[in-house]
Amino acid sequence: MKEKIIFWFVFFGLALTACTKGSAEAQIEKPEYEITIPESSNIGNFINIRFKANKKIEKASAVFINNKNTPVQKLDAFPINKEQTEFVVIAGIATWWQPSEWQIKAQIVFKDKKLENEIFEETKPFTIHDTEYPKYIMKFNKKNTDLIYKKSEKKTEQKNRFAEVIKAKDPKAILFPGPFVLPFKVTRISSPFGEKRISKYTNGKVTERRHWGVDYPAPTGTVVSAPCGGKVVLAESRIVTGNTIVLEHFPGVYTIYYHLHKIYVKEGVVLNQGAKLGEVGTTGFSTGPHLHWELRINEIPIDPRHLLKKNLY
Ligand SMILES: [Zn+2]
Repeated sequence: MKEKIIFWFVFFGLALTACTKGSAEAQIEKPEYEITIPESSNIGNFINIRFKANKKIEKASAVFINNKNTPVQKLDAFPINKEQTEFVVIAGIATWWQPSEWQIKAQIVFKDKKLENEIFEETKPFTIHDTEYPKYIMKFNKKNTDLIYKKSEKKTEQKNRFAEVIKAKDPKAILFPGPFVLPFKVTRISSPFGEKRISKYTNGKVTERRHWGVDYPAPTGTVVSAPCGGKVVLAESRIVTGNTIVLEHFPGVYTIYYHLHKIYVKEGVVLNQGAKLGEVGTTGFSTGPHLHWELRINEIPIDPRHLLKKNLY
């Protein structure tokens, strides 16, 4: 009997020690972190989700979940400091998303073997508000009708290459958070972002599509400058969009320039803000000299004028 009591005493003693030790270790290992998720936004706008921790982050991501509880988009975060303790997701709010009560689920994993890839997560409500966009009827001549409807191998090739370029999320992309400025001294807008454009063609076809950029009319030859630092990832003459430039500012974040008269820059070059990109023109599917300025975030078209009000992150 005495032996038994001693046994239980030793057993409980050991168990108690193990318990205390375990929780102490867990306390040390527990990482401290902060995830900042905005409460709301509008369609056609963009947001960022920030991750900040006291130790190196292995990976972080955010999932947008709609009001039917369906995950719509999962985005990886990218490091914004050398220590890799701060990451950010830049996300566009698509014009085709249902304005309602959504949720954002953010996850973070630390570079720490002791944590065995444990996922820390936070889910927060996220309200998407509507944005009103105007409707506009446009009639196009034979030249522009042919540009849209004449099939060609070259056109398909160009379409595929463009899609590939804006789909890429190069983790090594140089980070240019902003602030952005206008690409030249703008006097007016001839066609806003998001406009529901009813296009009538000479072949009798009628389409309804949104306008994915902002059109700024200006005389041919007006110099277009880089609104922020970026890398030239595409600079070529295209059948539909004319002389075209695409700049990369962050993995998956691109600004786009259409209908240029001249292109001054070459692909692969990293430019500072204000570097001369080219000249305003009316090449490709265009009815007069103007710059079509576009912003794509993870392929989603976003109103580029938001860049003039806030940094990317
Ligand atoms: Zn346009």
